[in-house]
Amino acid sequence: MSIVVVGAGLAGATAVTELRDKGYGGDIVLIGAEAHFPYERPPMSKGFLMGSQKFDEALVRDQSWYEDENVDVRLGTRATRIDLERKVVHTEPVSGDGPSVEVPYEQLLLATGAKARVLDMGEDVGPIRTLRTVDDSIALRRFLKPDAHVAIIGGGWIGLEVASAARQAGARVTVFEAGELPLLRVLGTEVATVFADLHRGKGVDLRLNAHVSPDDLSGADVIVGAIGVIPEVSLAEEAGLAVDNGVLVDASLRTSDASVYAVGDIANQEHPILARRIRVEHWDNAIEQAKVAAHNMLGGHEQYDRQPYFFTDQYELGMEYVGNPGPEGYDRVDIEGPTNVLDGDAFRAFWVRNGTVVAAMHANDWDASDVIRDSIGTAR
Ligand code: NAP
Repeated sequence: MSIVVVGAGLAGATAVTELRDKGYGGDIVLIGAEAHFPYERPPMSKGFLMGSQKFDEALVRDQSWYEDENVDVRLGTRATRIDLERKVVHTEPVSGDGPSVEVPYEQLLLATGAKARVLDMGEDVGPIRTLRTVDDSIALRRFLKPDAHVAIIGGGWIGLEVASAARQAGARVTVFEAGELPLLRVLGTEVATVFADLHRGKGVDLRLNAHVSPDDLSGADVIVGAIGVIPEVSLAEEAGLAVDNGVLVDASLRTSDASVYAVGDIANQEHPILARRIRVEHWDNAIEQAKVAAHNMLGGHEQYDRQPYFFTDQYELGMEYVGNPGPEGYDRVDIEGPTNVLDGDAFRAFWVRNGTVVAAMHANDWDASDVIRDSIGTAR
């Protein structure tokens, strides 16, 4: 048998690892556009960006692992087309310097991830950088220094993590967030306020309800656009797979073609516990979906039923969040403990709908990881 994985990010590398760990000895081809062996992205906006973590520490596996495990890794290579009938992936070198190659598969895993949304503010504004790759992170690093002015558009995860890194390096930071609060859609008013207070307390000039103009950005040494991502679905769509806000997959992560699976940022999944479709753009989902897809590609029948999870580190604040209230939202949020995280406070929060916990998080309370996970679905 031969398995091809398109996308050499965390999800792709985890799937390949899982295939070998489960004893699969057949051919594996891992195709990735970046020049680097698969790495984890969280450090790119945290420790690696701040210079406290080395790139090697972010690698999913050392290069030698792929050699030892006989995984055919094709870096700097773009998958350009999938022929579902013939079960072939067409690839080309990203450099454009080399032949087009056909890679046959019996089972195909799509883990193509997402690309940063690019903000176009016209020619009056200097280059707007995005942060997605290790190369982006390296390019941004040199601006994180005292007296530099870092302007960030978007107060989501990237925006706030970059703000934290830049302030810790002594830079002056302005964040322009379109919404009423940073992270409002994800966390709701009560906990989003904690993040707004944290950043303002750390000296960030946080502009809310912002319609950023070129004038606002004049004088900035660097402008970071952090306004979300677009899932990389064009390959799947052009192949004729069902696509709607991501590649549609069932609970076993199988696409509309029985030989093709999709995981990570691109997978819009029928979630058996949440009883609706969900697409999750976070680290944990890339890992855990990849494991289930690998198992199912080897003949398993596992459903991916894990609750969404994410974490962040900003200044001295570390938090973990489990669950997803979804479009129905929540009736109330119960906060246990004091929330002045600037003073090192720790707290837990439980989002409740119809008397049931639909999401939970802790801030600076690492003993609570299991407590918050176990609380999902319980009465409150
Ligand atoms: P994001 O988390 O989706 O946040 C984007 C933010 O930009 C939102 O607050 C959005 O507001 C705002 N926005 C959109 N258009 C804007 C505009 N024109 N002007 C000002 N603000 C604007 O996306 P991201 O921060 O770019 O992160 C990229 C991806 O990486 C996401 O998938 C994210 O989940 C992932 N990531 C995760 C973590 C983590 O889990 N800790 C860390 C880094 C990155 P509205 O919500 O009102 O549209």
